[in-house]
Amino acid sequence: MSADAAAAHVLILGGTTEARRLAEALAGDPSYRVTTSLAGRVASPALPPGETRIGGFGGPAGLAAWIGSHGVTHLVDATHPFAERMSFNAAGAAALTGVPLLALRRPGWTPGPGDDWTFVDCLEEAAERLPGLGSRAFLTTGRMGLHTFAHLTGTWFLVRSVDPPATPVPPHLEVLLARGPFTLDDERELIARYRIDVLVTKDSGGSATAPKLTAAREAGIPVLVVRRPPVPAGVAQTDSVEAVGRWLRER
Ligand code: NAP
Repeated sequence: MSADAAAAHVLILGGTTEARRLAEALAGDPSYRVTTSLAGRVASPALPPGETRIGGFGGPAGLAAWIGSHGVTHLVDATHPFAERMSFNAAGAAALTGVPLLALRRPGWTPGPGDDWTFVDCLEEAAERLPGLGSRAFLTTGRMGLHTFAHLTGTWFLVRSVDPPATPVPPHLEVLLARGPFTLDDERELIARYRIDVLVTKDSGGSATAPKLTAAREAGIPVLVVRRPPVPAGVAQTDSVEAVGRWLRER
């Protein structure tokens, strides 16, 4: 039996810093064959070490078939906390195949003294609340849900995303194409230059995009924070790459 055939095959559902860190942590360990799966949303993704595959599987059944045909022994859902459908698919595929599944989620953000945060459950609720909080919004919720704000004619938007947004978009906006991490100085400068008076964000967590929250507090502007969807029922969860390593060794 070749070394590869003897190795555990870990499929990482990726697209996040944590997924990349996990692939890096397992790279070079002969006990593991590692494949990272990316959705293919970003035009030129930064590829992690190990094997990669790009594109959807075709729902839970498609993922289960891929797991079966590629000899996957462990599934780690390290997708973004807001990639709700993929997490649901992962839970379904784990149930169909019996392959153990662990969700890796970075901790969410929590407000501190001086923060003026309003939590909402979804982008639609953010769009409802936004006009009451400000008229020059820094929107950092990603290009995919931008259509949710398209009817807000009285709000000017600074939209920051990795790739250009698709229409429909709000009528008054400027798009800034950029990929994190962002420094506190960057964020202070943007808020001042564009006279931003409200920030809209998902509770993505992590340090790469957190400085905007500090900059908002310093500028005394409110923040609309979209809460995370829950991890599917019954799926074990951890917030550290090291804990995933322990979970793999225990199996
Ligand atoms: P989603 O709504 O949960 O998933 C939609 C569909 O995209 C899934 O049903 C699946 O297609 C495919 N897909 C998603 N993640 C995949 C992966 N890692 N590998 C292969 N197929 C995947 O996902 P999303 O919110 O559009 O996010 C897409 C990707 O971007 C994820 O990998 C996520 O980690 C990353 N990301 C998302 C956000 C965000 O705010 N949502 C932010 C940063 C990065 P099939 O059903 O055909 O398998």
